Amino acid sequence: MWCLKNFFEKKIAIKEPEISVPISEIVPELENDIEDIYEKVYNNMLTVILDNGHGENTPGKRSPVWDDGSQLFEYEFNRDIVLRIYQQLFELNIPCIILVPELNDISLTERCKRVNKIYDETEKKCFLFSIHANAGGGTGWECHIYSEKTKSKDYATILAQEAKNEFGTEWKVRQPLPNQLYWVSNFQIIRDSKCPAVLTENFFMDKEEDCRFIMSEEGRDRIAKIHVETIKKIIS
Ligand SMILES: [Zn+2]
Repeated sequence: MWCLKNFFEKKIAIKEPEISVPISEIVPELENDIEDIYEKVYNNMLTVILDNGHGENTPGKRSPVWDDGSQLFEYEFNRDIVLRIYQQLFELNIPCIILVPELNDISLTERCKRVNKIYDETEKKCFLFSIHANAGGGTGWECHIYSEKTKSKDYATILAQEAKNEFGTEWKVRQPLPNQLYWVSNFQIIRDSKCPAVLTENFFMDKEEDCRFIMSEEGRDRIAKIHVETIKKIIS
């Protein structure tokens, strides 16, 4: 899987001619757009970081096996949603990085390290969405931030409002208070990432109704859509 991370590696390579690789070898189909994207990445546009954490080998992160034999694995769901968001952002020419191109489990410490490297490389012009499916008994959608003293709060509010608009009549958007649309939680990925960071729990994989929704194309498209619409609002 290709991601914009290559642009940062290429940028470093440009400064070090001895390890330079022609950009056309990295992403041939993008050659014409490269100057344009460089300009956005390195001038004023925010870069979106998408965390699709957990791996195919992560224990527990899966739904029960339902009566028809179907089962959801969270690593697959997270990656599929991230890819849907990524493809739409790519079309919109919005700089975006998939944090975990691997399929195996990458530790939270390593993921935070990657985020903070991008934070430095983009000169603080980035933010993180960490995509998950929930478990533990419940239904609906929710999002989390670590600190209310950051832009995370604004981004989470926009995102949860998008979720309410999209799902509100069919699904619960879970919120701690009537006037607070996000949860404040001590999760490492949003705590140790230096940029604004929001973690989304996109329905419950251990509740059959929710799980069937997030296994469906329609459900996945709608989950990707609320993230993309939010990102468009943040970037604009
Ligand atoms: Zn998760």
